[in-house]
Amino acid sequence: MARPFNFSAGPAVMPEEVLAQAAREMLDWQGTGMGVMEMSHRGKAFMSICEQAEADLRELLAVPESHHILFMQGGGLAENAIVPLNLSRGGAVDVVVTGSWSQKSLKEAKRYADARAAASSEADGHTTIPGASGWQLRADAAYVHICTNETIHGVEFQELPDLKALGCDAPLVIDFSSHVASRPVDWSRVGLAFGGAQKNLGPAGLTLVVVRDDLLGHALDICPSAFNYRTVADNRSMYNTPPTYSIYMAGLTFQWLKRQGGVAAMEQRNIAKARLLYDCIDGSQLYVNRVDPAVRSRMNIPFFLRDESRNDAFLAGAQARGLLQLKGHKSVGGMRASLYNAMPLEGVQALVAYLREFEQQAA
Ligand code: PMP
Repeated sequence: MARPFNFSAGPAVMPEEVLAQAAREMLDWQGTGMGVMEMSHRGKAFMSICEQAEADLRELLAVPESHHILFMQGGGLAENAIVPLNLSRGGAVDVVVTGSWSQKSLKEAKRYADARAAASSEADGHTTIPGASGWQLRADAAYVHICTNETIHGVEFQELPDLKALGCDAPLVIDFSSHVASRPVDWSRVGLAFGGAQKNLGPAGLTLVVVRDDLLGHALDICPSAFNYRTVADNRSMYNTPPTYSIYMAGLTFQWLKRQGGVAAMEQRNIAKARLLYDCIDGSQLYVNRVDPAVRSRMNIPFFLRDESRNDAFLAGAQARGLLQLKGHKSVGGMRASLYNAMPLEGVQALVAYLREFEQQAA
């Protein structure tokens, strides 16, 4: 039976092949007589799974040797505290506020550092991204934080800012939770990147951190040891028990991504999927997306019905057609379609067909 199409913002759709392989290996991983969940994290079998996952991720994202890959826990929200605990030295932190997630990062960083908004798109309802040349960056900033894809507001940086060209020597920190592995990353511009796995990489429970070597070793004394990047890096993500099953599932997803042609191939597919849906929304009388087209997210596409009294009917009809989890985030309302890597083009085609059908019924 064909599976429905799942547009959840996260935890989100996984590649069917990955789920099937995990199901086959659930009771006995490669003749070891153990399921992956039952293995010691320090045993040979799990170590090989973890090392392979790290190597595949390094290859997929083209992470240079200058940057460590850390597998952590706590999700994006924990990183909002862990980053300032490790990088701020209690000093100045500049945050560019482009939506709910960077707003949360700013609020949390204020607990550990002198964090301020360097720019904000709040006045226009987070439908734009303030131009980098206008950011109020402080000369003594320990780092500059941006969220490169705002999952709720649906805005995405199409290019990473070049802080050096702006006369700023501080490292750039990016929250790439909701578009990691959907497009290449220019690591020459990034000091640290973090993201929860539960959107584009695998199940919840795993947090990916990619951090440049020179940023290790500056943690505040109050930083918990298990969250000290130096400690985590020195112990190859095994200082404490890592989320073993989530790492395994992410590893299977990395292998799936490689079979798909890697991140460059995914990017082309993601461009095509997003275009299909935006064109449908823009060409309709019923649906609207208010984000500046220059910064629209390829991953998370919020849209509204101009007649909001029809929201429930829209969602019920979608559900009946196997188009799941389209309800928008409660803070903004409306609808949201998340088109992560594992969402096939056919899913977006089915959604667009339904959007047209529903609009015609309404006419
Ligand atoms: N940052 C972004 C961009 C997110 O989309 C999310 C989760 N939706 C978070 C941070 C928070 O992640 P978590 O729930 O894993 O802490």
